[in-house]
Amino acid sequence: MNHMISPARPRYSHTAIRLAGTLLLVSFISLTSPLIAAAGELRAGAAKVDISNRNVPVNDPLFAKALVITDGAQTGVIVTVDAVAIGEIGSITNEYLGNVRSQIETDLKIPPKNIMINASHCHGSVCNDVEQRTIQAIKAAAKKLVPVNVGVGTGHEDRVMENRRLFLKNGKEADVRHAYALPPDEEVAGIGPIDPEIGILKLEKKNGETLAIVYNFAVHPIQGVPSKGSTADMSGFASQVIEDNLSDGTIALFVQGCGGDINPAQYKDVDNPRDAETLGNLLGLSTLKAIKKIKCTDAGDLKVMNETLAVPRSNNETRIESLKKEQENLVNSLQGTSLNLKTFLPLIVKYKLYDKHPSYYSHRYLLEQKLSRDGLEKLDAENRANMERYINNVYKMEQMTRNKANLRLLTKHQTRNQAAGKTLDVEVFGIKVGDFRMITFPAELTVNIGLNIKKKSPFENTFVAGYTNGYNYYAPTADQLKNVGGAQEDSDCMLAPEWQAIFETKAQEMIQALK
Ligand SMILES: [Zn+2]
Repeated sequence: MNHMISPARPRYSHTAIRLAGTLLLVSFISLTSPLIAAAGELRAGAAKVDISNRNVPVNDPLFAKALVITDGAQTGVIVTVDAVAIGEIGSITNEYLGNVRSQIETDLKIPPKNIMINASHCHGSVCNDVEQRTIQAIKAAAKKLVPVNVGVGTGHEDRVMENRRLFLKNGKEADVRHAYALPPDEEVAGIGPIDPEIGILKLEKKNGETLAIVYNFAVHPIQGVPSKGSTADMSGFASQVIEDNLSDGTIALFVQGCGGDINPAQYKDVDNPRDAETLGNLLGLSTLKAIKKIKCTDAGDLKVMNETLAVPRSNNETRIESLKKEQENLVNSLQGTSLNLKTFLPLIVKYKLYDKHPSYYSHRYLLEQKLSRDGLEKLDAENRANMERYINNVYKMEQMTRNKANLRLLTKHQTRNQAAGKTLDVEVFGIKVGDFRMITFPAELTVNIGLNIKKKSPFENTFVAGYTNGYNYYAPTADQLKNVGGAQEDSDCMLAPEWQAIFETKAQEMIQALK
C-alpha cells in the first residue's frame, strides 16, 4: 500500500491544490466574464434570433446567428444575417456594424475588429430593430460558451447555381437579371465559372454533440418562393436542413462566399414558380454529407486578423459618355415598320407555322400561279420585311433597356466617387479556427476572386467571403471591368480594376499570417 501512496501523495496533493486553485479561479472568472477560459482551450457558444419583418407576409423566417469562439486569450465572433447587405442597400443602416460592435465591446469586452458580420444577400424583409436583435444573438451565444472540438472539411454542390455572366460573340459580356431581357441566344458564346466547393467548419461539444456549423458557399440567394413572401431563400432553407438533421440546438451559419456573379439555377424560368426551397434542400443535404465525414479534434487554435485596405475608386466618365452615344445610335438605328404589337403577333405565328402559304389556303396560291399573278407572294414578302424590322427593333429596345439600367448604376457611382476622392477604405477580416481559414471583403466579390485566392493559398481549407463587415457594391475582376456598362457587376461598382491585385495580394499576406 505504502509503496503506492507515499511517492504519489506529494505530487497528487500539489496537483489537487493547483487544480482546485485553477477551478476556483476559473469559476471566479467565469462569474465575472464568461469569455475568459483556461488558456489554449477552445470554447464556443452559438445562438440565433429571428429578424423577420412581421409587417409583411413571411414565407420563412430570417435570422441573425452568432458564433462566439474564444481560446481564453482572444475571442472571435462570426455573425451571419439573412439580409441583403451590411449597410448601403436594404434596411440595415450604415451605422449598424459600428453600433453592434461598440455595444458588444461595452458589454462583453470583445474588440470591435474581432467581430465579423456577413450578409447572406437574400432579399427577405428584415425587422426595424435588427441591430438590437443581432446584439441579443451575440450575447446569447457568449452566455453559452462550452469547451469544443473543431474540424474542417469541404462539400460539393453544382446543381443549384449558374454563373450569370454570358460571354457574347462580339467580345462583350452580358448578365442574367430580371431587370432586363437577355441578349438573343445566337449572340451567346459561353458562360463564366461556378465554385461548387462548400467550405465547412464544424464545432462539437466534448460529448460529441454538434454545437454549430459554419459553411461558406458562393451563390446569390435570390430565387424567391412561390408564395412571394419574405424568405431567407436558398441559404435559409439549407441552414434549416442542416439544423434539423444534427444535434438539437445546432446552429448553422451560412457565410456568403464570392456569389457576385452566381445566380440560382434557372433564375429566369417563366414556366414554373421559382422555388428556393428545392435548391436550398440540395445545398443543405450536400453540406450534411460533407459534415458527416469531418472529424473534430481538440487541437484547434484561434486567430483573428483585421486590416484596412485602400482600394482605388473608378472613374468611368469616358465610358459613360460612350454608353450615352451608344444609346443615341440605337435610337437612330430603329427602322420604320407598318406593324405594331397587335398586328405583329398573329402574323409571326402564321408565318412561323405555315412557311409556304401563310396568308391563305394553298389553293389560292396555286390559282395565282396558274394565272401568272404574284399578289400573295408580294404581300408575304412585304409582311416578312416588316416583321424582320419589328423584331430588330425589339432587340434594339432590349439592348437599350440593358444599357439604360447599367448607365444609371454607372452614373450613380461616378457621382459618388467624384465627390469622395481617389481611394476607398475597406475592411479585410481573417479568421483561423483549427485548419479552417477564411478571408472576407465588404463587397459582392465575383466567383473568380474566390477561386484565385483559394488556388494560391498554401493551405487546403482556405475560404473567401464577400458581403462582410460593410457593403461596397460589386467587386468584379479586372477582366470583368473591361466590360464596364455591359453587365450589373461591372456597372454597379465603385472600384477601379487595380483593386483586384491589391486585395488578392493582401489576402495571401493575411492567409500566410494565419498559419
Ligand atoms: Zn447582388
